Amino acid sequence: MKILLVMPHPNPKRTFFDRFAYPSLTLQQIAGITPPEHRVTIVDERYEDINFDKHYDLVGISCMTYNSLRGYEIADGFRKRGVPVVFGGYHASLLPEETKQHADSVVIGEAELTWPQLLKDLEKGELKPFYIAKKLVEPELIPPARHDIGVYTFMEAIQASRGCPVGCEFCAMQKVEGARFRGRPVDNVIEEMKTIKSKTIFFADASLTISPPYTKALFKEMISLNKRFHCFGNINVLSKDEEFLKLASEAGVERWYVGIASITQENIDISGKKTNKVEDYSAAVKKIRDHGMTVTGFFMFGFDNDTPDIFDRTLQFMLDLNLDGISFSILTPYPGTRLAERLEKEGRILSRDWSRYAEGYVNFQPKKMTVEE
Ligand code: SF4
Repeated sequence: MKILLVMPHPNPKRTFFDRFAYPSLTLQQIAGITPPEHRVTIVDERYEDINFDKHYDLVGISCMTYNSLRGYEIADGFRKRGVPVVFGGYHASLLPEETKQHADSVVIGEAELTWPQLLKDLEKGELKPFYIAKKLVEPELIPPARHDIGVYTFMEAIQASRGCPVGCEFCAMQKVEGARFRGRPVDNVIEEMKTIKSKTIFFADASLTISPPYTKALFKEMISLNKRFHCFGNINVLSKDEEFLKLASEAGVERWYVGIASITQENIDISGKKTNKVEDYSAAVKKIRDHGMTVTGFFMFGFDNDTPDIFDRTLQFMLDLNLDGISFSILTPYPGTRLAERLEKEGRILSRDWSRYAEGYVNFQPKKMTVEE
């Protein structure tokens, strides 16, 4: 079969900065679990237009909440032409009934255990409406992604592990990838890295600091690859584990993305981000930089203890931290998160227009601020 895998982009006008977005790995992973008798084409709409008139036997769309409406548009366009459409990814897994209105079938959960069967069923004309992964895939059974297609930027992505035991209130990760840390065998990850041509590799893992012993073993094997790496990590390890940081630097890690979330410990405690102690932020940033790596801090606004002065206080805090990069977002009650459930119960959700779920809009009533503030 000819299969098109699509990553929708909500804004038809691409900007220069789209080039610097994180590379997407999902479609390459789906291509990696597609049996070789099928021909797979990848289109990431951030970089390329979709040709709706080209012949495909199946279109697979993977989306998050922010690009789900565009995903539905694309699906409707192909289905009008008689091409079956399957959805997967976070949004589809968390809102399968909504997604099904635009799809012939919806993959719920990790696709490794269901996608090959779905393809067989489609060939027999027996496609089912839902394919539900009844368990999490064991890490040694996660095949390498295909890095010979879907390459758009100077940086490619890889995933060494899945799952996150932290369970922040605002994050849907556990609902899809589970709370159990599942590290792929280090040899498998290294072999996959060798198939990547780009000099810089982005880790699409929740965090490389969840299991320091696992990551240290991985770092040791990465040293000889002579590549550069960008990855997510958490304060609890980055502020304390010198051996971890030394190995990271030797392995070629050049940038850490760190979820700082809030400068207020009460907000951190409410959100359940157990990895963060505000008093450790400064040590983490200093240690990372002392080891020759850079830090981009991720901040969110709109927590229940945020008052209108949070913006000025955060700005000053950021300047004092001496970060190399910053990212701001507005707390967003994504479907499936404990945050969404709580705000729903409290009657504070203001919008379910998914096009506004891009972390730049206020979609709930803040507790100690107005929406405008
Ligand atoms: S630590 Fe990161 S991945 Fe894990 S639950 Fe929190 S935000 Fe999600």
